[in-house]
Amino acid sequence: MANNMKNKKINDSKAHYRDLLKEVYEKKITEKEAQDFWLNVEGADYFEQIGIKTLKERLAVHSIPFKVIAKWRYEGWPNICFICKEICDMDKNEGSIVEEFYVNNKINRNIIIHWACLGAYYERFKGLTAWGIIQLIYNNLFKNHDIEVITLKEYVIGYTVKALIKNRNTKKLTFALSKTKKRKISLNQCKDSPFLPVITRALQYLEKNQDIEFKTNRTDIILFIVKQLEDANEFI
Ligand SMILES: [Zn+2]
Repeated sequence: MANNMKNKKINDSKAHYRDLLKEVYEKKITEKEAQDFWLNVEGADYFEQIGIKTLKERLAVHSIPFKVIAKWRYEGWPNICFICKEICDMDKNEGSIVEEFYVNNKINRNIIIHWACLGAYYERFKGLTAWGIIQLIYNNLFKNHDIEVITLKEYVIGYTVKALIKNRNTKKLTFALSKTKKRKISLNQCKDSPFLPVITRALQYLEKNQDIEFKTNRTDIILFIVKQLEDANEFI
């Protein structure tokens, strides 16, 4: 019995160490299975537990699907910046990996951009109504020191706008985004808003990647943003 227990323990600890990219590339597991495993991995060596060793793969795991990183690992990484078309060496942390999409959400590809070129990339979204609204809401929060931006303001605004646009295919959000009449709602009602999960997740992501820092109560800030979105006249 004691021996069995011991063996089981060893097997369990080994079971956590996998090479998810390899498994996805060889189609042994699906993207969703890889994502689910990754979300439940705990411990300081969590990258090692899923077989991620290089810096660029670490950076990529935060922003793009496993199947894309796997393809890059086994077939070659892109190394040209999407904006300036110069070499962008991801081994030297020269740039960011961005899941690119257009407003109609039909084209979806993964690109690399120099850190210095990210501002120019987000210029492309500045004509959107959603950009104007998010910018207005965030500028208030920045000005009052509720949120501190650690990296780039345009990135924080752009990331949130993209999150909203990307999620607009879900039924609830389509409704929220398509409304044109002002309907004032209370902070309490915001808890049922379809904007809430999208904004919560976007801000969690920005905080986890150290793009922003909350200086006052996080829940209050999120509810404030959701209420402003709910009160906005027109969105997209
Ligand atoms: Zn560039």
